[in-house]
Amino acid sequence: MAQIAFDRALIEKYDVAGPRYTSYPTALQFDPGVGETDYRRIACESNVGVTPPDLSLYFHLPFCARLCYYCACTKVVTRDRELAATYLDRLVREVELQGALYDRRRRVTQLHWGGGTPTYFSEAQMRRLMTATDCCFTRAEGDAAEFGIELDPREVRPETLATLRALGFNRVSLGVQDFDPAVQKAVNRIQSVAQTEHVVDEARALGFRSVSVDLIYGLPFQTPATVAATIAKVVTLAPDRISIYNYAHLPDRFPPQRRLDPASMPSPAAKLDLLQLCIDRFGEAGYAYIGMDHFALPTDDLAKAQRDGALYRNFQGYSTHADCDLVGLGMSAIGTVGGSFFQNTKTLDAYGAALDAGRLPTERGLVPDAEDRLRRAIIMQLICRFELDFADFDVDFAAAFAPELRRLEAMAHDGLLTIDGAGIRVTDKGRFLIRNVCMVFDRYLGANRDRPRFSRAI
Ligand code: SF4
Repeated sequence: MAQIAFDRALIEKYDVAGPRYTSYPTALQFDPGVGETDYRRIACESNVGVTPPDLSLYFHLPFCARLCYYCACTKVVTRDRELAATYLDRLVREVELQGALYDRRRRVTQLHWGGGTPTYFSEAQMRRLMTATDCCFTRAEGDAAEFGIELDPREVRPETLATLRALGFNRVSLGVQDFDPAVQKAVNRIQSVAQTEHVVDEARALGFRSVSVDLIYGLPFQTPATVAATIAKVVTLAPDRISIYNYAHLPDRFPPQRRLDPASMPSPAAKLDLLQLCIDRFGEAGYAYIGMDHFALPTDDLAKAQRDGALYRNFQGYSTHADCDLVGLGMSAIGTVGGSFFQNTKTLDAYGAALDAGRLPTERGLVPDAEDRLRRAIIMQLICRFELDFADFDVDFAAAFAPELRRLEAMAHDGLLTIDGAGIRVTDKGRFLIRNVCMVFDRYLGANRDRPRFSRAI
């Protein structure tokens, strides 16, 4: 079972801001010169071939009834449900336009509703969206497909989970963050343990295959005692997957964060204590470390995929589905088709204007060159498998990446990894610093180095 060794001195030494590599190149490299015409062409080309890849659909449903002050998501906080009704009309229009681009024989083996708060929509609205999806795309049958939704337990009505299960969802991901009342009050997210427990129990009873819980460390008023109490409650719920995200205080980029008092937040050293606590307690509770803040029970598909070397990474994080073309729907959604990236417009007005004019709302993107693709393959292999065999790449690796290998020597000296003539192996204590290893192969980092756009490890 994959675990990590927590080496405090090393983590402090390597605590620099860096990408989380849900894509490579990262979204900072997306170009407004890549737009709808490129997307249509590449989507069309992706249908060609004996067996074109399956499809993965991501829907961005951005509405929330209340604002959590730590939030860094693209969302619209409003009590005006009319806005959501108008958005849904346009989203259905986008589903129709996008569906027309793809061969109906291509199966959708992965589908995800993210937000925002997807269940801000009523049950009737959710049914309408799924019906439109099924009219334009072909969802795979059977429970092997991954149909997931992000849930805010405060926005789950008595009939919500049964409706979602009937629509074919088989995975739920619950935002929890922290159960401590003082922390919840500070971040403006009051959510009782009972509310969360009820959603987990009902999801299990309805036959959802996987329940995930998201936590955050580094929030105001968190201490080892409060975080230990939250962890104990989470472990009792026995979710299949747990994510623990580092709170990055970037108030200039995310204005809601201005409402949080930095003086109430744990110091970097205290955050490291909290992180160590989370890692130790989840390890003791039997969770395997998947990578980049993610843990899973050994019985979960992610842990199995990791053991089998079949783990992948995309904009939703780690995945068991390889080589799907990812179609992004909704404002700000990112898709990856034929290896190229496309992002939709990020405001409601621009999104609506494009669709009202019969256009796809593609705003920017990136068509990678051969070097991007090679570096992406290297980074994805390292981040998913913690090892890399030079022979798997169609280049003279030692010659093509001589400067990178020299930089890795310093990491090898620090015990993060080993390198020999055959490849690179990340050690147990290097696993937590995997993004630092990946950053060595990122050819754009120099250009982005001075920008405070990425979060730090702690
Ligand atoms: S954290 Fe989630 S529920 Fe809270 S404001 Fe952000 S998107 Fe909405």
